[in-house]
Amino acid sequence: MTGIKTWKLWIGGKAVPAVSGRTYDVVNPADGKTLAKVSEGGAADVDAAVRAAAKAAAGPWSSFSARARGKVLLRLAALIRENADELVLLESRNAGKPLADARDEIGLAADVFEYYAGAATKHFGETIPVGPAGLDFTVREPVGVCGLIVPWNFPLVIATWKLGPALACGNTMVLKPAAETPLTALRLAELAAEAGLPDGALNVVPGPGPGCGSALVEHPLVRKVSFTGSTATGTWIMKAAADGLKRVSLELGGKSPNIVFDDADLDLCVEKSVWSVFGNAGQDCCARSRAIVHRKVYDKFVARFVARAKKIVVGHPEKKGTQIGPLISIRQRERVCRYIDIGETEGAELLCGGKLPGGALAKGFYLTPAVFAGVGAKMKIAREEIFGPVVAILPFKDEAEAIALANDSPYGLSGSLWTRDVGRVLRVSRAVQTGVISVNSSSSVHLEAPFGGYKSSGLGRELGLKALDLYSEVKNVFVSSV
Ligand code: NAD
Repeated sequence: MTGIKTWKLWIGGKAVPAVSGRTYDVVNPADGKTLAKVSEGGAADVDAAVRAAAKAAAGPWSSFSARARGKVLLRLAALIRENADELVLLESRNAGKPLADARDEIGLAADVFEYYAGAATKHFGETIPVGPAGLDFTVREPVGVCGLIVPWNFPLVIATWKLGPALACGNTMVLKPAAETPLTALRLAELAAEAGLPDGALNVVPGPGPGCGSALVEHPLVRKVSFTGSTATGTWIMKAAADGLKRVSLELGGKSPNIVFDDADLDLCVEKSVWSVFGNAGQDCCARSRAIVHRKVYDKFVARFVARAKKIVVGHPEKKGTQIGPLISIRQRERVCRYIDIGETEGAELLCGGKLPGGALAKGFYLTPAVFAGVGAKMKIAREEIFGPVVAILPFKDEAEAIALANDSPYGLSGSLWTRDVGRVLRVSRAVQTGVISVNSSSSVHLEAPFGGYKSSGLGRELGLKALDLYSEVKNVFVSSV
């Protein structure tokens, strides 16, 4: 990548400048330098993109059979794999991801399209026995134009979670990537055209939340809004989508519990737990940012966790051996640092991390992983989503207290529990109010299984076959036999 490229919006099957003519700088968080210039979408661009999507919905895309839609998705997956080196570098430089992480994510993006390519022909209606007077059956129909809004932490992957099922069901769409990370989405649109997706079926309009994202949510021709991002924005979107009764699905924030019982395999648990909160520099909605640990093993867990956290290699994303790259922006790092100050002021004990590395890393937005022990359940660092490399470790005395602490949160996205006791696994996994819970594991996402949150963590389930329900209407047809 030499020189600074200007990326345009993708509307109606071609790259176009913003109506305003404005561009903005996209920054590489690893060094603070301008990585690219991008046309800045606004309400007029969103309107053009939605109209292009509406035209495509009435045009060729609607005549593609489910099998033909699946073939387009398969070709798109193949093109992602063929162009993986370029996409990996784009994602790594744009989002500050270590190259190995970016490579995993690009591979996952292709996997998602392959999965929904197969699913397209397996999502259909049913016949219903209503009696001898006739035949009753249901058909699945696309919802129409979808507005898809995604955040900056997993830019391409989260976009595919929406695009895959939405395209498989025959919808058309406008994707609004986060202003910080639009590059892989724009490149994906080019690849989708190459894969045979008709013009206008997928439009990409990067821009700010207010003015660009909001125009998409409010556009009268948009029938469905699928959003991943903060709970505050999701709450606004749900209210705004009430006008016109748009369908809404929301994947929002989290403060996920990591419950460690005294019979856990502590070696495995500590190793996995460290990555479950510090992976992606803690910018993960599923981050297990509250470790809730039985008193009997609390000191041992804390000591091992701190020792492991100190060994994590924070470094330039393109340097071999780097395990954690920078945060997305200086603003995000300042926000996280404010929480570290708050934690200390609240009386929690900062045992390591929370420092800005100097030397070669001084110009990037790096932060060393921070571990707080002696955290009380009412402290802000135990309650609010920090979205950075910070963990709060709390003690508990028995199973009932562990469950109460885990549920003492407005969020309910994900969580883990560590124990060898099968009865306890069944009791606690049922009692914890989260959409996803993993046992003796910290994985949250399997693309074949539903993913989403309880309480303030969201509405609806993405991934798996359940996601197809988010992007289709059910029509019931009764045919009289007389
Ligand atoms: P954000 O809510 O600020 O922004 C997310 C997206 O919404 C961006 O594209 C942004 O431009 C857009 N947006 C902002 N204001 C808008 C408005 N008024 N109307 C329409 N669009 C608007 O969130 P963020 O800081 O970019 O991302 C971090 C948040 O995302 C965290 O809370 C995190 O937990 C959450 N997240 C959730 C999941 C999940 O699957 N549950 C996954 C990743 C991130």
